[in-house]
Amino acid sequence: MTRIVLVRSKDLQKDLLNAVFEMLVAVPGPLEFEQVHKPVKIEGDSDTPADWNSIFAACRAFRQQLSLDENDFLVLLMAQRNQNNWFSSCDPQGEKSIFIHASEWENYVTCPPEYPVAFQVVENILQCLMFDTLADGAQFFHDPPIGCISDMCSWKPDVIFKLRTADICPECQRVIGDRGICEDVLTQMLQLLETQRSVMLFRTRMSTGSQGEEFPFPISITRRKISGTTEPFRRFLMLLDHFDSLVRCTVITCGCIAMKDNFDEFFRERELHERPSLGHWVTALRNLSQMERVNVPDFPSRLFERIRRVVDKAEEEEIVSLRNEKRGHGYCDCNDTAYKQLFLEHIDTVTEVENLLRPIYIRIRWYYTISMSQSDPGTFSFTVKDLSGDHPDFKEISHEIRPKDIADIPQTYKVYAITPDRTWHKLSPYAMYCDCPACGHHRVLVSDGEMYIDPYVGHRVRLDCAL
Ligand SMILES: [Zn+2]
Ligand SMILES: [Zn+2]
Repeated sequence: MTRIVLVRSKDLQKDLLNAVFEMLVAVPGPLEFEQVHKPVKIEGDSDTPADWNSIFAACRAFRQQLSLDENDFLVLLMAQRNQNNWFSSCDPQGEKSIFIHASEWENYVTCPPEYPVAFQVVENILQCLMFDTLADGAQFFHDPPIGCISDMCSWKPDVIFKLRTADICPECQRVIGDRGICEDVLTQMLQLLETQRSVMLFRTRMSTGSQGEEFPFPISITRRKISGTTEPFRRFLMLLDHFDSLVRCTVITCGCIAMKDNFDEFFRERELHERPSLGHWVTALRNLSQMERVNVPDFPSRLFERIRRVVDKAEEEEIVSLRNEKRGHGYCDCNDTAYKQLFLEHIDTVTEVENLLRPIYIRIRWYYTISMSQSDPGTFSFTVKDLSGDHPDFKEISHEIRPKDIADIPQTYKVYAITPDRTWHKLSPYAMYCDCPACGHHRVLVSDGEMYIDPYVGHRVRLDCAL
């Protein structure tokens, strides 16, 4: 049995502590949660970020008052920011005290704060059990994040990945095994994380409604990353990434549909095969929009008209040169106000581009083929993952196909776009769903010339097996 005492600082609402406690006691197991109603007082000015020394000194004094054993945990939830602006931390001196910044969560998630805060409680206890000191842990934490509970999240909005995956990566599982952490403790933790995760996911989906769900993952995710970011410079870069993703995915989708096997030639001619810049992708999109009416039923030529307007819009607003200027070269301007302004100037354009392209993706979805069986002569039944939406645990569904020709039978382990006339158009190798060599997880990867982009984490990787 491990005793875990939850307390709050004076400035944090009682209700939040109660709500977090209620969530944590819902799953039985060897971790025994209790709450103390008397608040902890932290020395210093409550308007400035709290000093870590003061936070942990207050914890130490409180542990004494409660006569806690050295193996008991004390978890302090506080509203005030802390000096390093961390979400949470264990005591660097190795005592089993943890603070959690329990306010401002509305910047990152749309669900009530008790979910991410309870998640942080579990996460920190696990980390205290995994590492003797904060320094050992800090050396180990994953930065950049990989969607594991031990992600560092030095860039705060990254925390959403961790909350939504609630995953423990193989490397961490090894540490957990080596440390001999009791199986029952782990089971209880995983159950808690899973409960919190599913609610957070559900709430987030509810509140964003169907917006973004119609787009393939690379577009939905860059879209979601904008709303998960508050820091002005990052937010502005995310907006440019989202624009890039909209253009890039549309070139690939419409290009493969319109040109079929000839897309490869087009790809080379437009110099998309080496190190394509955003400018190359926009030009390719213009070329596509100028093509003769493409013979795809239910794919009105008006959609190409829309693509033309997207390109006009991009050129008018000079998004390409803006990106080259702000992202490609040179130094970052440290003035936040300038980026807030730039963001506001361009969000409307990008939203309009998104609205212009939306009807295309309502008609055409991306799927990944997992397996095939032949149900009747001439009928093939495919199990596929629907690669739409901004969450990477993609739904599996089945699709039947009656190909006219044996050459039309889709292949397994490839990404396809299916048009409303039930025709399958192969997008691989321009879009892939496979292990990202940088994070070791299955990701949707999008062509970037010789390389691929993992839009979930932002990796740029080489795939030897792709071509
Ligand atoms: Zn890990
Ligand atoms: Zn990756």
